[in-house]
Amino acid sequence: MPKPASMAINTIKSTTPAHVISPANIEWQTDDAGNEVPVSGEFGDAYFSQADGLAESHHVFLAHNQLPTRLANLIPKQCFTIYELGFGTGLNLLATWQLWRQLRLTHPHLASARLHFITTEKHPVLLNDLAKILAPLGQRTPELALLIEQLLTSYPPLIAGCHRLDFIEDNLTLDIWLGDASDSLASLDSAVATQRPYINAWFLDGFAPSCNEILWTERIFSHMQRLSRAGTTAATYSCAGIIKRGLQSQGFVIKKSKVLVSKREMLTAVMSEMSSLDKPISTLSNKVPLSNYPNNAVVIGAGVAGLLTAWSLANRGISVTVLDKDAPLAGASGNPRALLAPNMTPIHHVYEHLHSIGYLYSGRLYRYFNQQAAIQKSPLILEQTGTLDLLVKTNIGTEQILDYPDAMATTISTEKAQDISGLKDKDLAHNLYLPQSGLVNPQALKTVILAHPNITYQQLNIINIKETEGNVILTGSKEDKNASQASLTITADHVVICAAYESHQLDKRIVKCRTIRGQLSWFTPTAQQLTKLPKLPLKYSGYCAPFIGQSGDAELNHISENQPHFLLGASFIDGDANIDIRSEENQQNYDKLIEDMPELSSVLPNDISTWHARAGIRTQTMDYHPLVGLLAQSQRLWTMSAMGAKGYAIAPICAEALADMMLGCFTPLSAAMLARLSPNRARLHKVHKHKTRQSLI
Ligand code: SAM
Repeated sequence: MPKPASMAINTIKSTTPAHVISPANIEWQTDDAGNEVPVSGEFGDAYFSQADGLAESHHVFLAHNQLPTRLANLIPKQCFTIYELGFGTGLNLLATWQLWRQLRLTHPHLASARLHFITTEKHPVLLNDLAKILAPLGQRTPELALLIEQLLTSYPPLIAGCHRLDFIEDNLTLDIWLGDASDSLASLDSAVATQRPYINAWFLDGFAPSCNEILWTERIFSHMQRLSRAGTTAATYSCAGIIKRGLQSQGFVIKKSKVLVSKREMLTAVMSEMSSLDKPISTLSNKVPLSNYPNNAVVIGAGVAGLLTAWSLANRGISVTVLDKDAPLAGASGNPRALLAPNMTPIHHVYEHLHSIGYLYSGRLYRYFNQQAAIQKSPLILEQTGTLDLLVKTNIGTEQILDYPDAMATTISTEKAQDISGLKDKDLAHNLYLPQSGLVNPQALKTVILAHPNITYQQLNIINIKETEGNVILTGSKEDKNASQASLTITADHVVICAAYESHQLDKRIVKCRTIRGQLSWFTPTAQQLTKLPKLPLKYSGYCAPFIGQSGDAELNHISENQPHFLLGASFIDGDANIDIRSEENQQNYDKLIEDMPELSSVLPNDISTWHARAGIRTQTMDYHPLVGLLAQSQRLWTMSAMGAKGYAIAPICAEALADMMLGCFTPLSAAMLARLSPNRARLHKVHKHKTRQSLI
């Protein structure tokens, strides 16, 4: 049942207000020149100037933060961070993006510099409204039309939390934090205190206090102070006393000037030396000095965690060597296909739900990879099939699905569910349909990532890791031409251990994790079976999906190119780290399917002797969160492991967070989330010590 928009908004308003997004109510008004202007129904003010919004945005926010000069003066690999209060229609972003593009064309040294645009929005504009608002701008300024198209294509479903949008060709990262500005600002921090990131320029564009008094609280200004350092600038249209006093009280020196077109007064501010010096040394903002910017890194482990970590670092200009004792994807990440479909949570928890945030980011990244694959005429990384969840094993019912934007999750009619799934007898009235979900092709993903010019892969069994003040020295062993073991030493600025359940063996500071064996089964259906089998991925007490073998698949698994296959997953055997193939686990996968969809027993004979299978070991911590971050008492040794069965959904966002922490940039995960993922979190080590003591008794 697709829900009417008004109903969705009402449902949202009646549930927990904090962390539940209510979209902007756009009203169109005619200005003096007869132009239709979008006005915020919540605040009763126009989103941008009626005279010439783009020129004013350039003048007020870009020129008064001296962006043309400051961006042009960035040195290679330097990151410049802008924080905008009030994303609205994205006009300021588009103006900044346009400037950044122009500068990168005329200043080749900016090729490796990065622009990080962080913005927050309490009432985000719905995609349809945004397209309507931005259309005239694209027509007037064709240079912007392409940027508008890219923004609209990546625009996230309107759920609370951070949505990272990467515009990779432009080295531009956009983090849209949906929610109240003070919550979004409070989320921004870094768990790595030695490399605290800071904002270079603030765009204070959250409507004037006359129509939005509650925004401009002391909390906002003290967050600004916490996140700024000497030389950080700010600009705003408003000269209201509350803003002037707020900025001054937090160490900003303010100055009034005139807005170019309207001749109204506006305000600029700069954080003074004094106030920055007043801060205690431990909290003094300090991005990684560029002299310390890592040139290279080693990632140990070529599963999904290692590959995505390598990609995020390589994408920031770091040379990455991926090392593994086996071939890439030899472990649990090498299944024929991975189902990218989140375990949903009630909407008021979604802002802190790593699986949902990770799912949306992964989908965007994999769609970007698909574009690369299309250029190279290689298999798609994500086949966006949509997934139908029969809600057999779930945290969420149809009423809670109503709270979600349809673009992310919805309930479809029984007829449609029958039509897209091919199921005839099953009661499908209660279902969850995930339109952006689909099947990831691990082999294709690996191929795209390892083709990155900054990434090399080497087979090496690491036997020792030694951190010194200036680097990390790794010793590995490798079979030489005469089949005897040769020792090899590699040095790196940073090392990230992504070795799943074996991570603990490489560094004892990484907690020992649960090992959960999972066996996936697949077979080649006959043409007749194919017409009766589910036509898209289904989730029930297990999951199943049809897929066509692609070139490269046979390198990892028994898959025939261009042939249809049908996969069923997966067994769950706690405490088992063997990867032998077991017919009883194929049988379990079969039984789960038939138990939940008995009609398929006439399609699939109970003869599973010809089925193929692959067993892998999922690594899980005791609190179910992965391990992402710097190891205790280390400056250069990191881990990203324990992804459980969700690696393809959460590794991309965790890898971004890890790369940002390493480089002293703001992460797309909140400070609270980073603390929850820290490999040093007390909870985990306490549980672990307790368990170890118990097992000794
Ligand atoms: N910068 C925008 C642009 O380029 O289109 C225009 C921003 S508009 C003037 C102000 C925005 O601030 C509105 O979209 C409004 O919903 C948002 N806003 C107001 N109060 C907020 C709050 N407490 N937290 C986050 N956003 C808020």
